[in-house]
Amino acid sequence: LADCRHFMQVGELGHGTFGVVVKAIDLRERPPREVAIKLLSRGNFIKQYKTYVKREIDNQSRLRHPLIVSIQEVFLTKSHLAIVMEYARGGDLFNYTMRHGPHGRLIEQQARWIFQQLIIGLDYCHRRGVANRDLKLENLLLDHDGKDGIRPLLKICDFGYSKHDRSSSAKSGVGTPVYMAPEVILGDNHYNAKKADIWSCGVILYSMLFGKYPFNAKEPRLARRIVAAQYTLPANVAVSPDCLDMLTKVLVAEPAQRMGMEDIKCHPWFLEGLPPGA
Ligand code: ADP
Ligand code: MG
Ligand code: MG
Repeated sequence: LADCRHFMQVGELGHGTFGVVVKAIDLRERPPREVAIKLLSRGNFIKQYKTYVKREIDNQSRLRHPLIVSIQEVFLTKSHLAIVMEYARGGDLFNYTMRHGPHGRLIEQQARWIFQQLIIGLDYCHRRGVANRDLKLENLLLDHDGKDGIRPLLKICDFGYSKHDRSSSAKSGVGTPVYMAPEVILGDNHYNAKKADIWSCGVILYSMLFGKYPFNAKEPRLARRIVAAQYTLPANVAVSPDCLDMLTKVLVAEPAQRMGMEDIKCHPWFLEGLPPGA
């Protein structure tokens, strides 16, 4: 970030598929404010992934919601395209889930708190016409580390594969294999991206509850298992019947039979502990 005098880089937050995310201080603010900056190297990279980079910035900037990581500004340096975002100090849900509890999983109430926020944030995105298409533990951030028993706020990030209703659908499926919906794996060109997001929410819920992925095998076995929605429920983890009811109705291979956003929002497990009318 040598080219930019407004920001002082103070650390590294993560590496993703497409670049590095650093922590920096915005020196124009009083008091100086912490931000996260995603750096994408210019040149071939940006040219090759122009559509995705443009969608990431366009779609994420359009979303203004406490449960979505906001983009503050975008600028070019000599070497990089820099996306300045709100900083989520609790890190991502993958690390959070690993850290919490002795077995790298969350207790049901914690998992529900995260899931409720995921659904409310995602419902907002979908209503604004944006599907994320890359929902996974690593792309869900938290506003603090959850120590002292305080419940952290969820922040959905990484709209790099997102798609707006008005943009033509990508021919090939995008996302991360273990989180991909059956219809995406099968290469259906006209799959409903919002319904596929819901599947990923099911994979996330399972992973939080059981500390492992529902579908975990090497290719091509992984694809076969996902397409058949073939997963097992670990017998050593006690989960309430309402919770299992929700999970098994989300991880349904056929999109038309899978729970939709409205079904989830009326489900007793989802509604528990939410303020009335939320
Ligand atoms: P990629 O598209 O390369 O996957 P992400 O946007 O998902 O990039 O960022 C990669 C990682 O960096 C995330 O998984 C997370 O750990 C960290 N990260 C990203 N954005 C932030 C942020 N705003 N605050 C804190 N950490 C972040
Ligand atoms: Mg990511
Ligand atoms: Mg991305």
